[in-house]
Amino acid sequence: MHELALAEAVIGIASAHAGGRKVTAVYVKVGRLRQVVPSALEFSFELAAAGTPVDGARLEIEDVPAAGACRACERRSELDGFPLACAACGSLDVEVIRGEELLVDSLELEDEVVVSG
Ligand SMILES: [Zn+2]
Repeated sequence: MHELALAEAVIGIASAHAGGRKVTAVYVKVGRLRQVVPSALEFSFELAAAGTPVDGARLEIEDVPAAGACRACERRSELDGFPLACAACGSLDVEVIRGEELLVDSLELEDEVVVSG
């Protein structure tokens, strides 16, 4: 249950930032390399939020495509999946520059909106 652990982490962060207020929506960015199943994360989020300030909040998941910088040809390209290969030359010697994110981007609280980096 990879997604349940992630959901609990997201709820922990959101609850801490909410400062006792009720959270109505949580916006998260999830890099594609995290291999998170959005429906599983939503389900886990609903379950784990019960009894917390996040109970009943919407979970908005932004999917962040993976990108890499090739060490062989120095081009940057989107990475479609595993194995991670350069789209330009096919080299596997690629440094991941995007797609490993997992962060709470912002929260919506009852009566006000707070953006927390
Ligand atoms: Zn390349």
